[in-house]
Amino acid sequence: MSAQTQTFPTVRVPFLDLGPSHAAVREPILAEFAALIDEGSFTNGVQVREFEAQFARYCGTTHAVGVASGLDALRLALLAVGVGPGDEVIVPANTFIATLEAVTQAGARPVLADVGEEDLNLDVTAAERAISSRTRCILPVHLYGQMADMVATRALAASNGLLIIEDACQAHGAERDGIRAGSAGNAAAFSFYPGKNLGAFGDAGALTTESEELAASVTALREHGQRAKYQHAVEGYTARLDTMQAIVLKHKLPLLDGWNTERRLAAAFYIERLREVGDLQLPAVVTGSDPVWHLFVLKTREPEALRAHLASRGISTGRHYPQPTHLTPAYEWLGYKQGDFPVTEALAREALSLPLFPGITEAQLEATVAGIAAYFEYAD
Ligand SMILES: *Cc1c(COP(=O)(O)O)cnc(C)c1O
Repeated sequence: MSAQTQTFPTVRVPFLDLGPSHAAVREPILAEFAALIDEGSFTNGVQVREFEAQFARYCGTTHAVGVASGLDALRLALLAVGVGPGDEVIVPANTFIATLEAVTQAGARPVLADVGEEDLNLDVTAAERAISSRTRCILPVHLYGQMADMVATRALAASNGLLIIEDACQAHGAERDGIRAGSAGNAAAFSFYPGKNLGAFGDAGALTTESEELAASVTALREHGQRAKYQHAVEGYTARLDTMQAIVLKHKLPLLDGWNTERRLAAAFYIERLREVGDLQLPAVVTGSDPVWHLFVLKTREPEALRAHLASRGISTGRHYPQPTHLTPAYEWLGYKQGDFPVTEALAREALSLPLFPGITEAQLEATVAGIAAYFEYAD
């Protein structure tokens, strides 16, 4: 019997379903929205400060500043520490484009370094080679929910007098070597884009830091540069965290650890059941690391064929990221070329992300594993 005529149990598997997460918070959020409509503090509401205090506690930092997106958190962090024109910032080549956007929008130049084969995060040896007299800052990304090696990054930064800004946009709650995402550098950026481990009902973000001065600078920058109303010491932006989004985040944050546990269980299921299937290379968890599985990214020689096969069975997958940052038209001007970052380029060719979200059912996980097993049987 061919693959085309065989029938399958019909379990649809979306790549991401936010429904299960939202069931428990829907009513309390709606009640607080209703109160907000009557009360009217749509910006700078008390819920913004409540969420900031709650999120700082969660990350183990003294300050959290709510902003309008993850990109704003990264960009305002760079501006607040004084990174600007003439400066270079070291960034992993394998990341979401926003990491580079933050650097260029702060007026600085991103200098890319390849990622390591194992954790797929900034290779600290490559980062060291990328240091020049203009380097001011290292910007490691905790990609897919697994932290970069912050012990080695801190040592490199310390011996070269560099700042560290973490891109923790995919790593809410992750830890490595006893260090929690968001607490490992001078400042960290989080995104609460709806699909992130902690997501708002639209765009939102936050910056965490131990520095009171840095927190005060970002608080001013997010609101037209003002430290007091209509006192504009520096040029700023409209980049506040909306009160509505703070309400959503305030209700969701207490559930985040439980959701991350569900993600870990789903990842463990895939790792157990996909070991030695076809040519799959499963994601590695490095020693001392406790990732939060924002994404489950495996490698296979022909991801598009596997993706199409799974789609035909109602199973949706993702590609993170199909075009490396250094080969996008937007960043052609940086002057990099094909071959500059081989680990990143191989990932772009071979990476496939499996469905993974809190509330994914055992039937959905089974269907995904069965679909993959069937593909490799027919592929032989
Ligand atoms: C989502 C994300 C961002 C940007 O966050 P936005 O809220 O979309 O601006 C930055 N870096 C990484 C690694 C991300 O995944």
